[in-house]
Amino acid sequence: MSETMTQTERHSFEAEVSRLLHLMVHSVYSNKDIFLRELISNAADACEKLRYLAIAEPQLAGEGGFAITLSADKEKKTLVVADNGIGMSHDELKDNLGTIARSGTRAFLENLADKGEGQALIGQFGVGFYSAFMVADRVRVVSRRAGSDEAWAWESGGAGTFDLTPVDLAEAPARGTIVELHLNDSSLAYAEEHTLERIVHEYSAHVPVPIRLDKGEE
Ligand code: ADP
Ligand code: MG
Repeated sequence: MSETMTQTERHSFEAEVSRLLHLMVHSVYSNKDIFLRELISNAADACEKLRYLAIAEPQLAGEGGFAITLSADKEKKTLVVADNGIGMSHDELKDNLGTIARSGTRAFLENLADKGEGQALIGQFGVGFYSAFMVADRVRVVSRRAGSDEAWAWESGGAGTFDLTPVDLAEAPARGTIVELHLNDSSLAYAEEHTLERIVHEYSAHVPVPIRLDKGEE
């Protein structure tokens, strides 16, 4: 069987997620910076989860410690947020990044139904991972659960569906998650080092995992 035969699975977002994503994609919310706070906080949570699991199973975390790495590439118009935390399995990618299990997001949508006005609420509630679609027209998440010999990519343009594709271990992190944002044309500032430094300083100064900034030059 040919290796190029695609094994991609296409899934539909839960209706509420689609609604939220539509709002993100068409957002005029002025403080889009918060997307980075959300992604960094997810990366830090993932490291903390693995740190906890590794108390009982030290081999899961190995040596070298935890880190969050930001890499920007102006030419490619990408920003990558990577962590070496717990990672996500196929089912976790599908459930965590396809449905709304999260109370904060639900509260956001309920308020939206009441007031019919979403933009001001974005900053108030924080909309988690999905806020990436304020600045990106395409998001690719590659993840490998700690201790697993499988890696999967989750990819979406934010409209209706997302794709899950198996990833060769050679192209996957040893463990953890890589969130690659293809920045939209009005968000290219997020590929600038000084912008990232400013936001990290402003919103993520107290994150309990070191945050490194790569320059994206190869
Ligand atoms: P919240 O962080 O409040 O749960 P998010 O929308 O930010 O909501 O993220 C949804 C879920 O996706 C998280 O609870 C987590 O299970 C999973 N997730 C997101 N980013 C990561 C990551 N970098 N590593 C591991 N899991 C993640
Ligand atoms: Mg979060």
